[in-house]
Amino acid sequence: MQDVFESRESWPFECLRCLYVWEEDYVVRHLTDDHGNEVETWLASGVPVQPPWSGMSCPACGAFHVTSFPAGYLARHPELAAAPDPVPLARVPVMPIKDIELPVVRQPLPRRVMIALGVPLIAFAGYELYRYVLSPITHH
Ligand SMILES: [Zn+2]
Repeated sequence: MQDVFESRESWPFECLRCLYVWEEDYVVRHLTDDHGNEVETWLASGVPVQPPWSGMSCPACGAFHVTSFPAGYLARHPELAAAPDPVPLARVPVMPIKDIELPVVRQPLPRRVMIALGVPLIAFAGYELYRYVLSPITHH
């Protein structure tokens, strides 16, 4: 027959590289078998993890050079804990990109089309101007 009980523990940590301070909450599952052997399983958010004294890394910089404080240390020293995350100044609505309507931008006519149509038009207008306005004046 196995004897099982669980306890909750909060471990404060400090990164020795970037000095970030944080706290991890654990559930410790204590198992005792028929022979009196005791085993502890550490859980964080319901997932088995390494005990806090091994394999802990800094959530801010990823360094493994981390120290821990006695339980409840941060409650007595709140100035050590990291400042809460800043509140955003404005809420930006999130919408799928397919729902965003872009303003219609018309492509300008290609330069070749403008030249192909413009040059004969200017030549025709110039010829007509010469024929009806300037030619009668110069032939007197
Ligand atoms: Zn760090």
